[in-house]
Amino acid sequence: MNAEIISVGTELLLGHTINTDTAFVARELSSAGVGLLYSCTVGDNPERLKAAVELALSRSDVLITTGGLGPTGDDLTKETVAAAAGKKLVLHEESLRRIEEYFKGRVLGETQKKQAMLPEGCTVFRNDCGTAPGCGFTTDAGKRVVMLPGPPFELIPMLKNYAIPYLTQAENAAIVSRIVRVFGLGEGYVAELIDDLCACPNPTAATYAKEGEMFVRVTARAADEAAAEAMCEPVVRELQKRLGGFVYGLDVESLEETVVKELAARGKTVATAESCTGGLLAKRITDIPGASDVFHMGCVTYANEIKTMLLGVPEETLRQYGAVSPQTAEAMARGIKERSGADYGIGITGVAGPGGGTEEKPVGLVYLALCDGDGVKIREMRPAGRYRGRGYLRGMAASNALDM
Ligand code: ATP
Ligand code: MG
Repeated sequence: MNAEIISVGTELLLGHTINTDTAFVARELSSAGVGLLYSCTVGDNPERLKAAVELALSRSDVLITTGGLGPTGDDLTKETVAAAAGKKLVLHEESLRRIEEYFKGRVLGETQKKQAMLPEGCTVFRNDCGTAPGCGFTTDAGKRVVMLPGPPFELIPMLKNYAIPYLTQAENAAIVSRIVRVFGLGEGYVAELIDDLCACPNPTAATYAKEGEMFVRVTARAADEAAAEAMCEPVVRELQKRLGGFVYGLDVESLEETVVKELAARGKTVATAESCTGGLLAKRITDIPGASDVFHMGCVTYANEIKTMLLGVPEETLRQYGAVSPQTAEAMARGIKERSGADYGIGITGVAGPGGGTEEKPVGLVYLALCDGDGVKIREMRPAGRYRGRGYLRGMAASNALDM
């Protein structure tokens, strides 16, 4: 089953709204084992939308549209798609009742009622977070069409709860996806290591790279869930074997989620002393629900005097080795561990750029230290390739700390 997405909205073409709906739908389709062949964006223009719909129906099994289901004059998706697919719009009584309830006794205008007009014979997707329902139907040519509202907080639950089950139930198959998360290996290198696994049609294995990280998604299709899970299992084990210590988690969302879970499971706590990352590491750890059980405190110590005053970094260390040095990172990690009473202390110091680099200490040089009691581990990040900006560098520094 191959799909195509059409996002409708002039605001998307103008760049005023970033098209997060397509990214979300694409990810969900991929998890459900539906291949996405094309995606495009069309403004609120019925002729151009009609042309895009006709093209999609001529080449893809499934068409998913986002946006333009609402009450305003520029919301033309249902009329246009239904006409292109040869369907009439008819009043869906239950949707009308839900919209009336939503407005609690206020007199409904014709434009509000328009939202309850849906293609004849369609499966209606209730909108649990707004007024405009979505829907799914099959064309006479056997193509499936799904229409979803534009606002992400309406689209996300509707897609997960109604549209994906609608699309996959007819498949008569269970699809299971596992995600192997990798940090510290380049995409090309990972691809080389697992080339043969990626060539298999079922289960499939595919690599994705994002912000210095990689993940491999393994997807199996089988008659039932247990069988699909069993098919994924050996591939996941083989990936773990080949990628070894670079694998940091299975079916997790992020490095920080893994860190919080692992610390909680071991009953351990952590505290952070950050310079060049400006609190980003503490932010990422505390983004995760449950962080309060494992995170003690975080200090942002930019100035040298503050590193000494708050963390006890010896003035002599700063004078002799400089703020960006393994010695300072270590003193920061030891200092925050002692002062907070946490089981682990982390220190980060580096040159985030764009200015401030020297030949000896170039932009992009970062030292990380992890202190777990007596021992201290140090990691050095050396600049490689072109400078990608402060945001990237700080993100990589925080990721490396989490990886440690
Ligand atoms: P409404 O009932 O709110 O009008 P709708 O289904 O008609 O919903 P649109 O009018 O196309 O949707 O978009 C409403 C709002 O939803 C937009 O202003 C924008 O903020 C958001 N939105 C629409 N499409 C997208 C998209 N592809 N990605 C992210 N946000 C979007
Ligand atoms: Mg609208």
